[in-house]
Amino acid sequence: MTDVRTPPTAAVPTDALKKVGFISLGCPKALVDSERILTQLRAEGYQVAGSYEDADTVIVNTCGFITPAVEESLNAIGEALDATGKVIVTGCLGERPETIMERHPKVAAITGSEAVDDVMRHVRELLPQDDNPFTSLLPSTGVKLTPRHYAYVKIAEGCNHTCSFCIIPKLRGLQVSRDAGAVLYEAFRLIAGGTKELMIISQDTSAYGVDVRYRESEFQGEQVRAHLVDLAQKLGEMGAWVRMHYIYPYPHIENVVRLMAEGKILPYLDVPLQHAAPSVLKRMRRPGAGKQLETIRRWREICPELTIRSTFIVGFPGETESDFQLLLDFLEDARLDRVGAFTYSEVEEADATHFEDRVPEAVKQERLARFMEVAQRISAEKLQEKVGRVMDVIIDEFNDDEGDAPGTKLIGRTKGDAPGIDGQVYLYAGDLAGQVKIGDIVEAIIEDADEYDLYGEVQAVKPWKPNVPMLGHFGKH
Ligand code: SF4
Repeated sequence: MTDVRTPPTAAVPTDALKKVGFISLGCPKALVDSERILTQLRAEGYQVAGSYEDADTVIVNTCGFITPAVEESLNAIGEALDATGKVIVTGCLGERPETIMERHPKVAAITGSEAVDDVMRHVRELLPQDDNPFTSLLPSTGVKLTPRHYAYVKIAEGCNHTCSFCIIPKLRGLQVSRDAGAVLYEAFRLIAGGTKELMIISQDTSAYGVDVRYRESEFQGEQVRAHLVDLAQKLGEMGAWVRMHYIYPYPHIENVVRLMAEGKILPYLDVPLQHAAPSVLKRMRRPGAGKQLETIRRWREICPELTIRSTFIVGFPGETESDFQLLLDFLEDARLDRVGAFTYSEVEEADATHFEDRVPEAVKQERLARFMEVAQRISAEKLQEKVGRVMDVIIDEFNDDEGDAPGTKLIGRTKGDAPGIDGQVYLYAGDLAGQVKIGDIVEAIIEDADEYDLYGEVQAVKPWKPNVPMLGHFGKH
């Protein structure tokens, strides 16, 4: 579903409202249409649903500009139909109803682009409003579809591994990679619409394309392989921040790290290692396990700026004190920048549920505390090394206290921090108070650091010049 942030509906009980899902595809011009439709929906007392499950009907604002966009639109219509059975199609592809009807004869209505009134007429027919005393209370404020400055791009679904603590392959099935062309067009559209940072995600990003044998597909008249290195290269050429999540330490990742050293994509790898003791890794059935330290050293040789994030499980069945000690030693040697840890907990249906030699809860907790102590110290030391440096920081939010002029204090992230999971940079805007916008990338001098976060002051706002034509002025706040 589209990333629509609706204004709060104050005291209106939300279950009293009819809910409309909205998928907005296409260029920023189509986004403007989407904003208009969403504004009208709210003005008439409909609520925008956050998921298919919540939606009574779905509007798909389509793009028909190029073949992959048509395909993406048709797929989105199919998904929405499967989920709700009631779909209104609008936008560019709506100009070619025969294409839609051929694939999806059950759509409820089709309109062309810039057809807010027609769309609303169909919504009213499908979801008539009863005399609801609450809807009259709704404000008719405009809905902004302003894209956030970062976005997640999923490149594959499912997973081909059989980690013994995980049931994702059972839930989602084997890996199905998207065509590189589809991913690249999505990235292109996002960047054109104002997105500055793309988080590349899947269950095992390093295995991208294996299932489709690195099939080629079209992007801007060229054939591109569904291979992580090729994809990263092409994404990097678009000029936005590109961040890689869920990478396993396979040999070809070295070539991705080379792209980081060249400044094409962010020097950041999220590598969930889960453990370091060979016997535990074996029981976990982890992909890419073994020689972890060597691999990390090699990556750092290629790209000294690299930030490595990882997650670990402590107290996995059979983990002995000496296994755990190996893990602590690994942590000291690898000096990972960002580390998360969890105690092992059982997941119904996971194979590890039947493993013997469970670690008592108290031991798990004690190991977690010891682990976090080491991880925190290393993180603090590594962040301390950044004090005095000038770093690029992407601004996520304002942090003004009462009485501050707007935009005096800001919170952002460096290239080494993913949103939500890593550290933050707390900044004073200084002379630039009021001039820095959310989503801007600034140069900041780092003045202080603690275990997780950095502190500093903005020195300059960097111009934003992606290699993608900006089709509108989105992202302004
Ligand atoms: S934990 Fe293992 S099985 Fe589960 S999604 Fe990740 S790689 Fe696949």
